[in-house]
Amino acid sequence: MPRPIVRFTDVTKRYGNLTVLDNLNLSVEAGEKVAIIGPSGSGKSTLLRALMTLEQIDDGLIVVDDEPLTHMPGRSGRLVPANARHQRRVRGKIGMVFQSFNLFPHMSALQNVMEAPVQVLGMNKREAGERARELLDLVGLGDKHQHYPSQLSGGQQQRVAIARALAMRPKVMLFDEVTSALDPELCGEVLGVIRKLGAEHNLTMLMVTHQMGFAREFADRVCFFHKGNIHEQGTPAELFGNPREERTQAFLSAVN
Ligand code: ADP
Ligand code: MG
Repeated sequence: MPRPIVRFTDVTKRYGNLTVLDNLNLSVEAGEKVAIIGPSGSGKSTLLRALMTLEQIDDGLIVVDDEPLTHMPGRSGRLVPANARHQRRVRGKIGMVFQSFNLFPHMSALQNVMEAPVQVLGMNKREAGERARELLDLVGLGDKHQHYPSQLSGGQQQRVAIARALAMRPKVMLFDEVTSALDPELCGEVLGVIRKLGAEHNLTMLMVTHQMGFAREFADRVCFFHKGNIHEQGTPAELFGNPREERTQAFLSAVN
């Protein structure tokens, strides 16, 4: 029986007068792969950043794995805005990979992947090291454990960043244009890792991407964003093959 693992209910986010998420509703099932497409500035990154608690929303509710992320039970039993500690705990179920890889430059690939499990989860170094080696092997970097970011290609750095996010054992992985900073010939190796994670692990994935070919092949569902809301959504065959909305059609013919 499918169940939602992420649920946005009437979520609004503003920057001053600019409404960036406009009363948005989205429910993602455990194991589902959702591709998010749409024009620049339509709120795609803000959606992921709100889920990662990098942005605070102004209105609405976000629930992760049956626990409110933005709220917590108050003394009266009613939901009140969540404090930082509560948000950190619930956010622990989510991993995120960004366009810029943001690795620690003074640490090897292995140290980068071990860092959070040791520092945040208090895992002992031997165990964290073993797990980091497994994860680097998983992303195809079995021979690069001791390399520093400056000694790795962009595609390899991005794969370290994926391994680093996985080290926290997230239930949900967020990918925000993870291949946009890469030369075209390096995109394939990163997408290949994401494809493998999707196939072999029952991870829930939300991915903002400009690569329509990958979205079509990989996603269970594609959401087209426009002005802070989901303007149209459907299976890849529906959305790419037979878009109903004029704006979706215009966007797709411009990017293809
Ligand atoms: P997308 O990822 O779809 O390109 P974003 O979610 O990054 O869009 O941004 C949506 C809108 O919010 C844009 O108009 C952007 O300029 C604005 N925005 C994003 N972050 C901030 C911020 N920290 N302060 C003010 N405006 C912002
Ligand atoms: Mg963005």
